[in-house]
Amino acid sequence: MFEDIQYKEIFQFFQEISQIPHGSGNEEELSNYVKAFAEGLSLEVYQDAAYNLLIRKPGSAGREAEPSLLIQGHLDMVCEKDHGSPHNFETDPIALKLDGDWLFADRTTLGGDDGIAVAYAMALMSDTTHSLPPLEILLTTGEETGLLGANYFDTSQIRSKRMINLDSEKEGTVLISSAGGAKLQFHTRLTRSVQPDGYIPVTVRIYGLKGGHSGEDINKKRGNANKLMSRYLFGWYNHCPNTRLVSIDGGVKDNAIPRECTAKLWVPGDLSEEVERGCWWFGEDLAKEFGGTDSQAKIALEWADIARDPEGWSLEPCSNEDTGRILSFLNLAPDGVQNMSHVIEGLVETSCNLGILRTDEDIWTGVVSLRGSQRDQLLAMKEKFYILSGMNQIEMQVFSEYPGWEYREESALRQRYCAVYQRLFGKEAGMEAIHAGLECGIFAKAIPDLDIISIGPDIVDIHSPSERMSVSSVQRTWELLLAMLEQEESATVVERT
Ligand SMILES: [Zn+2]
Repeated sequence: MFEDIQYKEIFQFFQEISQIPHGSGNEEELSNYVKAFAEGLSLEVYQDAAYNLLIRKPGSAGREAEPSLLIQGHLDMVCEKDHGSPHNFETDPIALKLDGDWLFADRTTLGGDDGIAVAYAMALMSDTTHSLPPLEILLTTGEETGLLGANYFDTSQIRSKRMINLDSEKEGTVLISSAGGAKLQFHTRLTRSVQPDGYIPVTVRIYGLKGGHSGEDINKKRGNANKLMSRYLFGWYNHCPNTRLVSIDGGVKDNAIPRECTAKLWVPGDLSEEVERGCWWFGEDLAKEFGGTDSQAKIALEWADIARDPEGWSLEPCSNEDTGRILSFLNLAPDGVQNMSHVIEGLVETSCNLGILRTDEDIWTGVVSLRGSQRDQLLAMKEKFYILSGMNQIEMQVFSEYPGWEYREESALRQRYCAVYQRLFGKEAGMEAIHAGLECGIFAKAIPDLDIISIGPDIVDIHSPSERMSVSSVQRTWELLLAMLEQEESATVVERT
């Protein structure tokens, strides 16, 4: 398949990797394979219990004493397939397809994210024709499921002070900063009792929203179904404080903007017309507010006939007090973009996403995904949520925290990248900070003076069966990587007097 392709060894390594299933949590075999490959080249290998690999390769002749450089990527891939695909990610090799410049897989994710980093790493390990500095190569596991391997890895093993992360998907754009974040979980016990006389049950649905990724899409002014439902319900509760909530459920993942939310409540029967009117007005407001960005957002109301159809109405309503404090909390909870960077144009600096709401018989739960590139801002947001939940007698717990990678004014590695890019391709490289998490954050925090950049070839539609990788971009990125590793004229240390 790759016989006539320039730098075919990289594509052949990629093909070898594709033969070994390596979804997140299933990296053992690939890790062992790369370990054996490195050992076969007599390189020093350290593998930990999470199957992370750190490989050391001495510098080429004359460069043995240079400071080492860390090349980093992740071993695992996201496993997604089309509905009709019989692919088994536990056992089957990824079936590669080549069409023109695009490499992709047969109705599954390709694993270019981040298999291409593993392929580059293997090419660097086995390279004997180029002059290379001493290299450390770190391949981690569980990146796609919460940076698990990087979090587990003993970073005191790393000797390098410069790191090139190969987990970016846009050629010509160097990443210079990523967000940190955390998952905030809220819960409270519920007291339920029989609904008062004269009350009638109603289901309210907000649906039709676009949703999206809570990092990349948070600045697109789309609606959050959970948040909109909270606003609607609080408005009604304010008008009619005797309203009793049964349940409020919406969203499936903390890092996805929720597209639907459903609430069940009991309202005084003589107010049914007002409820309908209020709902109609809210629908009008939705259309106005989101006409340009989320135009299919809808609210619908349905009176329940429990005697005829009791489905979904087994729970008694929550107490008046529970209803009030849950709705107050939800209505006040910050959501969406909180502030923009003053340093990097267009970068969302802090955001949150009220991703999940769940109501069980005796417990109510909410989950917020928090992101931010500044440590102090993240802390301030956590404190805000902490105060707000406390005021409403709701418990808060913090999970899955990961640090941000803050932008550094001074970065010799970034400067070098930009100069090399300009020299090779005759144009300026772009720079980008992202509002999502990268492993770089973990290494930046663990090794404060580590100079980091993140680069990679063009890969589009990652994490989906349409994922595809540009062959020519892989080739150019390889040339760029080699040029970055060439001996620098300024590498000789000049002693100042
Ligand atoms: Zn990745």
